[in-house]
Amino acid sequence: MNEYDSERMASIISEDAGFETARDEAGADVIILNTCSVRKHAEERAMSYIGRHIKDKKVIVAGCMAQSMKKELKKQFPRLYAIVGTFKFGEIGEIIRKGGIHTEEAKGVYSVDVRRGKKVRAFIAIMQGCDNFCSYCIVPFVRGREKSRTAVEIKKEIMELAKTGCLEVTLLGQNVNSYNDNGMNFPALLRELVNVEGIERIRFMTSHPKDLTDGLIDTVASHEKLCKHFHLPVQSGSGRILELMNRKYTADEYRQKVSKIRERIPGVSVTTDVLVGFPGETEADFMETADLVRDIMFDDAYIFKYSVRPGTKAESLGDDVPEKEKLRRLNYILDLQKKISEDINNKLLGNVYKVLCYGKSPKNKGEVLATTGNNKKIYIKGEKEMIGALFMVKLVEPRGGGTFTGEVVK
Ligand code: SAH
Ligand code: SF4
Repeated sequence: MNEYDSERMASIISEDAGFETARDEAGADVIILNTCSVRKHAEERAMSYIGRHIKDKKVIVAGCMAQSMKKELKKQFPRLYAIVGTFKFGEIGEIIRKGGIHTEEAKGVYSVDVRRGKKVRAFIAIMQGCDNFCSYCIVPFVRGREKSRTAVEIKKEIMELAKTGCLEVTLLGQNVNSYNDNGMNFPALLRELVNVEGIERIRFMTSHPKDLTDGLIDTVASHEKLCKHFHLPVQSGSGRILELMNRKYTADEYRQKVSKIRERIPGVSVTTDVLVGFPGETEADFMETADLVRDIMFDDAYIFKYSVRPGTKAESLGDDVPEKEKLRRLNYILDLQKKISEDINNKLLGNVYKVLCYGKSPKNKGEVLATTGNNKKIYIKGEKEMIGALFMVKLVEPRGGGTFTGEVVK
């Protein structure tokens, strides 16, 4: 979502004749820092970045931290040039010119008018905000209430992207499964969007497990353009902790949903988020999470250490798992997941997939990057002419970080 917001700001700036994008920080007059508040660590990094640049540059802080910490920011950095809240991205051009504080209460809908350049893959927000109030999470406070965009508007935006050569879109929402445009639910939206000519692939995230329906699974199973990948954050394997988190599903219900997805969609990949060190998480609770990760065998997992977020319900529960213990739990799940991902990926060697080539390899000359529908990342030999096309590729070798080396087959 943050990347999408940065894209929106960048598109406005690039169309404004008054501005030019600098090659690096040293050459810039103004630096816009788009921020995240989901974890304390992200905020600390942003603070130290601002500290490094505030003396020489006009620094603008945008996004979730601007929304939630404007007083602290102003106090710590009186020289800050401007602050742009999550509902003010659309005004970035004007804000660069005049500076100042621009936030408004996180409610209503902000403009999602993105004018963008040619892209093979693009993000599209189909909704904003969140109503779930998981007890640890700051998102509902910085992004406001959940609000779905209309299907007509979303389809129009995708049709425009298709005209510029875009082949893959990722539909974004904090919980896409609760999409609702006057009774049109998420599976119905997907069935509408598969008809957009030129778009070859549609992805979506994030799916909240409590709202994942059979209807969605069946829809994904029956349309080729819908990518066979679910990002389904589980957070914990302990029923007690899930309840304290206000996630509204049990570990068993979660397991059953994953089984159903796998039964109905062969070759599907399932990824997750895990949160360790939630207040009161005992060793026994943690072991339930480890057991779940071991049993389910996710394709990949993002693992986070809990940090207290101001204003959330969990703030009142304290933060009683010591930092050292949180780190141990984090590393335990990381190691476990690494082995699982390796095992899964090794079994895929030799398989042939239709892949979308979307960019140059950032490190290796003569190589390009591609993805499979089920979200595996593959390096293949080739030059930039291949970007923006689909190829049949055989997975020949595993590579670091769950990626592969592949070979184009006829
Ligand atoms: N809407 C998405 C998640 C958005 S936040 C969903 O419901 O899954 C992305 C991830 O950040 C969450 O899945 C959670 O694992 C993590 N996260 C959220 N709040 C956190 C906190 N206070 N401390 C650490 N990690 C957190
Ligand atoms: Fe946060 Fe829960 Fe909403 Fe996800 S669903 S954004 S974790 S409150």
